[in-house]
Amino acid sequence: MSKFLEIPNCALTPMGLHKEALNYSLNAFRETLRYIDSLEYPQRNLKGKEKEFSQFLIDKSNGMLRMYGSAEDLLENVKIYKSFPEHHNCFGSSNEPYQTRPNIYKSLKNENYIAKSDVFVFLQNMILTLFLETSGEECPPSLVFLFAFYLKSRQESMEKCVEYVKFDEKIFEELNNKIIEKVRSAQFSSAKHQELVGEFSKLTLPQIIEKFKRLIPSTLTPNQELILTLHFGNFITGLPARERNEGIAMSYSVASKTLKSLEAVIDENLEMFSPRRQDSKQPITVRVFEDGDQRFVMEEEFKKSIHEKCEGVNDTLIRNTISMENVRSKYKQKIADIEFIRYPITRAKHRATPIQGPSGHTYIPAVDLFFEMMREVILGMRIFQRIKPVHLPMFVQDFNEFSKILYETESPYFIQNDKNIMFAMRIISDSPAKDVRNAKSDGFTVQNLKNELAHLGLTAIFPEIQNYVEKVYSEVDKRKKSDVLRTCDLFDAIEQCQLNCILEILPKLKKFVHSQKGCHRVYGWKCEECAAETPENQDDQKLSILEKELEELKIAHQKILDENQQKSLEIQELQQKNLRLSVKNETNEFKLKQLTDKLAQSKLSIDEGNYSNACTSQLKIQCLICEKSIESGKDQIIRCPLCKRRFHSKCANNWLKEHTECPACNGDLPKF
Ligand SMILES: [Zn+2]
Ligand SMILES: [Zn+2]
Ligand SMILES: [Zn+2]
Ligand SMILES: [Zn+2]
Repeated sequence: MSKFLEIPNCALTPMGLHKEALNYSLNAFRETLRYIDSLEYPQRNLKGKEKEFSQFLIDKSNGMLRMYGSAEDLLENVKIYKSFPEHHNCFGSSNEPYQTRPNIYKSLKNENYIAKSDVFVFLQNMILTLFLETSGEECPPSLVFLFAFYLKSRQESMEKCVEYVKFDEKIFEELNNKIIEKVRSAQFSSAKHQELVGEFSKLTLPQIIEKFKRLIPSTLTPNQELILTLHFGNFITGLPARERNEGIAMSYSVASKTLKSLEAVIDENLEMFSPRRQDSKQPITVRVFEDGDQRFVMEEEFKKSIHEKCEGVNDTLIRNTISMENVRSKYKQKIADIEFIRYPITRAKHRATPIQGPSGHTYIPAVDLFFEMMREVILGMRIFQRIKPVHLPMFVQDFNEFSKILYETESPYFIQNDKNIMFAMRIISDSPAKDVRNAKSDGFTVQNLKNELAHLGLTAIFPEIQNYVEKVYSEVDKRKKSDVLRTCDLFDAIEQCQLNCILEILPKLKKFVHSQKGCHRVYGWKCEECAAETPENQDDQKLSILEKELEELKIAHQKILDENQQKSLEIQELQQKNLRLSVKNETNEFKLKQLTDKLAQSKLSIDEGNYSNACTSQLKIQCLICEKSIESGKDQIIRCPLCKRRFHSKCANNWLKEHTECPACNGDLPKF
């Protein structure tokens, strides 16, 4: 894999992780987390110290981040959550260098692809690696941010697209070589360098910083201005007085030639970064989302690729999908040239990974939006700890009004998640809500969970909540990540118990969750529709059908085995027969030979004129009249002139007294 996939140390900032964790947590916690001051950060570099920084955030969160588990758990989940192309535009990361390692996606044809928006990340990684390799030092923050802001301004200026480009190591190696070549050729002459040193010696600090900023042709955001002022200020004041102007000039020339080479490389390879042109040789790419056993495309993205209009895209809130099956059957003729990019839908424990939409917004599956919103209501706003039981129907009404975007459909769909979707609630209670208490070091029991629900006041609004405790507890216990149940597991259990209660009150939501295949995500919940689809007796039936099929297969298998055996027996028999026949054949040949020999002998006899002798010596001749043998040489014989048969003369004479014809051939016998 390419070495330019990894984000170099100098580009990873604690602020980046801070913002990601902030966005991963519930909306209700964000204000608190936002006010953790970057001046308090225990470190300036992140690489290798991510866990410490995660712990720092937990410690600073006033206990709010307890529900996310250990520093390691939080880090792991944030990593899943933030890993998507275009991530740098979400979470307010536009003021940070690119922080996220690009994902490589496989196409259905099994080729590697990366998002076009991630090619910028490669450029950043290439120039920072080049800096390290040529100077032997990590790139200072002033230049890291300058380069990143340049790349981000270029990216901003391009038309948004969710296209993908083939990830070919060779192409990226070439891109890197071009950058190196261009940086080298942009080397300042020593005269030019001296001129710069002279120029900087006459400038004030703000003027110098301004000169660096002007290397970026586009307008910087006020935040970016501020960040560059800070970093260049630090850099310049950190230089020893004697080398100050020399150092500034050196840094300026590095910045200048790097930005020039980046500009040239981007301009020469525009198609790697920006939407595909009509006449392009690059394939058209469309993402096929993979979620469990479901495969589907985003309707808008797909239809755009085949130049078909997509109804109802004026509103960016909802994005419908088409199953891959339907894509294949309905659009068979149009998809031959499309490269489908396999895009797995991923979920951290508390949030789904956002997905870039064609309109520039980010989306998550509708069912995830539902669960995330319920978590917001239950653990963030703690609504059910706050409102009085008498107000519950009003909450249900408000929620029903909102939940129109949560409709029943067999196909999955997406809802925009980058705007704060929260339903309007008429009841806003200021009454304080208790905190979930920490679990003991040896975990918590079913009874502890029951006590905690009562302690939080949830039994007042949901008297039936205790009925869910045991099922929820056993599910939480099954899914726990450490040996004992921890505080974060207690949060899960409390959330899940309330979720069960709400779904029981709102049948529409049950149907939605069921149609979006989310039932298994409600711990211990027995969905009636799921049960109707596969009741236990149906399971039994299925099992018995399977068993029957197995039995049949076994019989068929045995039959084949028997047949095989039969065949091999037959073959054996045939072989033996063949053997016997060939033996017989030999015997026959032998006999034949004997016969030919005999024949040869006979011929010999005939030739020698000894025919009768030869015959009489070997064959006993019978008289057909008396049926006694004729002793050759002794008995008097008479021959029939027609058939040449011989008779005793005595018998023939007697025979001729009453007959005139030969007893063998009925021909006339002569009178003797
Ligand atoms: Zn269900
Ligand atoms: Zn006779
Ligand atoms: Zn005769
Ligand atoms: Zn005869």
